[in-house]
Amino acid sequence: MNWLTNFIRPKIRSLVEHQKDVPENLWTKCPACEGMLFQRDLTENLNVCSHCGHHMKIGVTDRLALLFDGGRYETLSVPKVPHDPLKFKDRKKYADRLKEARAKTGREDAIIVGKGTIGGAPVVIAAFDFAFMGGSMGTAVGEGVVTAAESAVKEGAALIVVPASGGARMQEGALSLMQMPRTIVAVEMVKAARLPYIVLLTDPTTGGVSASFAMIGDIHIAEPGCMIGFAGKRVIQETIREELPEGFQTAEYCRDHGMIDIVAHRKQLHETLARILGLLFDKKKTTEKVTPASGASVQNGRSKNGNGKGASSATKARAQKNVRMKARVRKAKMTIKSAANDPASAAPKPRKSSTKR
Ligand SMILES: [Zn+2]
Repeated sequence: MNWLTNFIRPKIRSLVEHQKDVPENLWTKCPACEGMLFQRDLTENLNVCSHCGHHMKIGVTDRLALLFDGGRYETLSVPKVPHDPLKFKDRKKYADRLKEARAKTGREDAIIVGKGTIGGAPVVIAAFDFAFMGGSMGTAVGEGVVTAAESAVKEGAALIVVPASGGARMQEGALSLMQMPRTIVAVEMVKAARLPYIVLLTDPTTGGVSASFAMIGDIHIAEPGCMIGFAGKRVIQETIREELPEGFQTAEYCRDHGMIDIVAHRKQLHETLARILGLLFDKKKTTEKVTPASGASVQNGRSKNGNGKGASSATKARAQKNVRMKARVRKAKMTIKSAANDPASAAPKPRKSSTKR
């Protein structure tokens, strides 16, 4: 059998090994138009299809790099939480699922908090990682949003949250549901300190996330075509027994029905955020140091307002500042809408700082 081992087997091996040399993911098929995209071009185009403009998912660190000035930011540590408090098990143990997700993403949980600037304005961003158990919100994610909000108040920075989530994390039961009021209290703290709170909705924003902090921003921006809703289309259709309209639960549908303010292409996000922050930041206010006492503090999901003893003039001053903040939000929304109606003024100027890392 010499000819078999000496001639045939090496020949077969060389054929197989030659095929192995070809990188597996050289081409990607666009899920919307089914066009073939060269992986390198797709990465350069920020994971947006060059044929039809479909926005595919983007890694959370790439996301932060494209939002912050010059792609520079500092990652903030999120306090550790007890994992698997319920010792939950479905087909797999929750502890094993966590272990797998951590190995896959290299992250502790489905959120990352970064601090930096956008258009020169101080900003704290809490971004969801969809690759980590579908970006589901458990205790650790709640802790991330609270950390981001507290840090924004402490630094006098704007808070931007970027959800990409299927909703609450079922494996944590009621504890994950408790993150809904908890995150709301956290972002209310930012608002009480009269700092801008912006939500950048990405695909998908659903369930307990869209039912809590994601829908109470001063300004809502969304990426084109992204899915925004509470329950899925099929569930709604089966419940109300009616056919839902075309494009239901997309970013554009939500904008046309007043749920969000602006739909912006991924390449325009930095520019758009910089413009909005410029409109929202009170120039005088940023020079004052914002102290957490001027807002509220969140501990264990409870809100604690200043004791409010006497000082009616302070209350009055605070009310006036609140009115001014609301006026700025209104003005920003009007500016955004008029820019949307006038494409010439909405066209972004070329960015000076590229996303170098
Ligand atoms: Zn496409």
